Amino acid sequence: MQNWLIKQATTKPDKLALIYQEQHFNFKELFNKVRQAASGLVALKIEKNDRIAVLPSNTVNSYFVILALQQIGALPVLLNYRLSWSEISQQVKLAKVKLLLIDDDLQLNWSATKLLKITTLKLNQLFKVAAPKVTLKKEFALNEVASIMYTSGTTGQPRGVVQTFGNHFYSAIGSAFNLGLDPAELWLCALPLFHISGLSIMMRSLIYGMGVLLLPHFSTVMVNKALQTRPVTLMSVVPQMLQQLLREFPATGYQARFRGFLLGGGPIDLATLNQCRQLKLPVVQSYGMTETCSQVVALSFADAPQHIGSVGQPLFPMQLRLSQPDAEIQLKGPNIVTTYLDDPGSFQRQMTADGWFKTGDIGYFDQAGYLYVKGRKNEMIISGGENIFPQEIEKVYQNYGSITEFAVIGVPDPQWGQVPCAFFTANKRLNSKLLKAYGYQQLAHYKVPHYFYQLDQMPKTASQKIIRPALFKAFEKLKSC
Ligand code: ATP
Ligand code: MG
Repeated sequence: MQNWLIKQATTKPDKLALIYQEQHFNFKELFNKVRQAASGLVALKIEKNDRIAVLPSNTVNSYFVILALQQIGALPVLLNYRLSWSEISQQVKLAKVKLLLIDDDLQLNWSATKLLKITTLKLNQLFKVAAPKVTLKKEFALNEVASIMYTSGTTGQPRGVVQTFGNHFYSAIGSAFNLGLDPAELWLCALPLFHISGLSIMMRSLIYGMGVLLLPHFSTVMVNKALQTRPVTLMSVVPQMLQQLLREFPATGYQARFRGFLLGGGPIDLATLNQCRQLKLPVVQSYGMTETCSQVVALSFADAPQHIGSVGQPLFPMQLRLSQPDAEIQLKGPNIVTTYLDDPGSFQRQMTADGWFKTGDIGYFDQAGYLYVKGRKNEMIISGGENIFPQEIEKVYQNYGSITEFAVIGVPDPQWGQVPCAFFTANKRLNSKLLKAYGYQQLAHYKVPHYFYQLDQMPKTASQKIIRPALFKAFEKLKSC
């Protein structure tokens, strides 16, 4: 397939490609910046198939360099800057990378980089190298590796996922067929570039010839301002972002070009979706994962108001089935990667004998064929023979005034086998008895948590997901006190 960047730079050179703060780049300018970074990489003797780790932040330099690595056939291994140095060190070692590139804007303990025992370089150095201009490759094969990134680590150790140009291509096509494409599409990216939610926006930009408004990070003030003053058409959000935006939703609303939010990454409560409906704020729910290169199931703008709570239908050309008898969501199609980094064996264990990817998530279809996600198979609580998904309890308590975050795990119990145990944060001290009484009004009795622990802070991943293994550890510690 023709190199997407070259295609856009030659056919739509003047079209807006990227906005970052006050800087604007059209596709020709983006091409020049990426070529400059690619030339710097080649001068540093980076070659095709070299694995190069990047600690990106949401800046133009990170944006250009990730693309530049792809352009010279090197393999960008995207790392999460919120990890500890020992976690970064482990990922760098396991990924066998040749070099670590670090965004200059990250507030890091630079002396700690010495512990990594690997050559490190600040991104801006690449733009200072006096290097002859390289010629970028004209074509990509769809099975070539485009990016390597880690899963969120919600259920355990993050796993390195190897994504190809083909995975990104089909993901972008499925999204465009579903959401449609505005000729002046401007997609706001406030999600990290080292996660698929952020990187997929960058890849769609090259495939569609679409503009991206890149924000350095998520802040309610910054996003609300951007949605009022810039001609943004779409924005990807995770549930916590949407909830925060609604708390400070401007009385005058967003500017008229805004088509809506693409929501994904985790479950959302119905009250938030209903609030969006009242505000006439279009929200399209979606479901996907790192291994599927972004959303694979989604609602459309037309469907969303009638199917609140559903994640929609499989995007073109993906297939979805529910396994029997446990109703695990299984997927087949070109969005899905084919291996974990240097670990094809553990990826194969997630495939069925007839070639379907086992997501580990449990779902059901309504009569109209719309999918609902109940939760993860390995988080299901079996209490006195009844199956409980933490999410059904969490959604109820997220609407309890003053609770800011709420998570449930299953803990051992001599009588019932397992019982639900809740951890939460709130903006004032809350009484467990009242929380229990609220649960009895809203939920079947066996679903009401037996324990409630208020935390100052929830343990969370960079994509704002609660790290459940940390809650199990916290429970053991609290019980032994
Ligand atoms: P790890 O695989 O390391 O445990 P993770 O699965 O959280 O972490 P991601 O790939 O970022 O890593 O997240 C994908 C998962 O997020 C899905 O498998 C699913 O459990 C959850 N998820 C995504 N979208 C939704 C949604 N709309 N509703 C409910 N859950 C969702
Ligand atoms: Mg996962």
